[in-house]
Amino acid sequence: MSDTATLQKPPTSNETVNILMVDDSPDKLLAMESILQSLGQNLIKAHSGPEALRLLLKQEFAVILLDVNMPGMDGFETASMIRQRPSLEHIPILFVTALSTTDSDIFKGYSFGAVDYVLTPILPEILRTKVGVFVELWRQKRALQQQADTLLKLNQDLTGRADQLTAANKELESFCYTIAHDLRAPLRAMEGLTAALVEDFGSNLDEVGHESADRIRQAASRMDQMIQELLAYSRLSFVHLDLQPIRLDEIIKDAVTQIDFDLRQKKARLQVKRSRHRVLGHQPMLVQVVSNLITNAVKFCADGMTPEVIVREERHGDFVRIWIEDNGIGIAPEHCERIFRIFERLHDRDKYSGTGIGLAIVQKAIARMGGKVGVESEVGRGSRFWFELKLHTEPDRPITSPRQDELPEPTTDPKASDSPPA
Ligand code: ADP
Repeated sequence: MSDTATLQKPPTSNETVNILMVDDSPDKLLAMESILQSLGQNLIKAHSGPEALRLLLKQEFAVILLDVNMPGMDGFETASMIRQRPSLEHIPILFVTALSTTDSDIFKGYSFGAVDYVLTPILPEILRTKVGVFVELWRQKRALQQQADTLLKLNQDLTGRADQLTAANKELESFCYTIAHDLRAPLRAMEGLTAALVEDFGSNLDEVGHESADRIRQAASRMDQMIQELLAYSRLSFVHLDLQPIRLDEIIKDAVTQIDFDLRQKKARLQVKRSRHRVLGHQPMLVQVVSNLITNAVKFCADGMTPEVIVREERHGDFVRIWIEDNGIGIAPEHCERIFRIFERLHDRDKYSGTGIGLAIVQKAIARMGGKVGVESEVGRGSRFWFELKLHTEPDRPITSPRQDELPEPTTDPKASDSPPA
């Protein structure tokens, strides 16, 4: 990016700078001009303090060479007037004064804001060097200023772009949300009308007719479930989260209660090792995560096997890792990452029902709670899913329950026992 390139350049500026020379004597001004000409800068002359002040208000100068002994407003008075203007507060002033100047005059000059003295008769080399230093300083200051301006502009651009992105994201999310809601209505009508059709005209339908009606109902119900899960998934992005200390024991208990029907139907054996820890999380989201993982652990089990699931925890420094281990069909290691992406499924829908959204919800919910997820598995040797969240170690404080509108839509429907959602 060209902006970045600009930022990486060393801070110099090639601008020609203005140097103000103030002296009531035209000869001395001429002498200074001829000495400083080789610096190649704009040399501007003023014959009195008031003229210098007028010039200073019109343009920017890198340095002022100010004669101390001028009739009317002398050099000290002029310097003091210059310093009173906030914009000229830091402009370097070099007093030009006679070699015979006393120490007390020199101190007086410093108290009026002089940065240095040039003694007359002027030694050309000394004057050139001193003024050259201030020219260089001014250039560096200007270059830094330009960099600061560029940075500020970049920052403003970035903030603007971030705002645009947030707005576009919000719009997209609300669009998805509306679409998903609107899609559910005709689906429910489809389910209802098919049920009514079978009830009212079932006697006229042969076996194929009944089967077709059944398939319509199943397809509609699967699609409805998918939409609900998509809604839950998209809501995870924008719901406001207040992380609270949560007892893992309670989360696991709530999740098991939620999927109890499923567990009984599959005759699953569930072993929950007692948890002692509290983590920082969002209660409804965490219940959903645990229930999704246990539902999968029970679902992806080989024919004729009794699903066996172990839930246990492990402390990892400042984090607590929860393991959900099963004796199921397992996952080839090369697929262990992609299954957390939305709609990624490894198995045939006819054999293992599902939408491919469950693990994406797990991954997003845990990320929003500041944690991580993962899995260790091999085909035929079961899977060990885990997630970890920050350990809460502070003493108890009242836990306020999250607002109802923050709850993710439930993805489990106890009625739909033939197609348990994950
Ligand atoms: P769904 O269960 O609805 O298909 P998920 O997002 O929960 O979707 O899981 C994605 C895929 O990951 C599943 O389709 C399955 O192939 C695989 N998977 C998830 N959990 C397990 C598990 N415990 N054992 C074996 N495979 C699993």
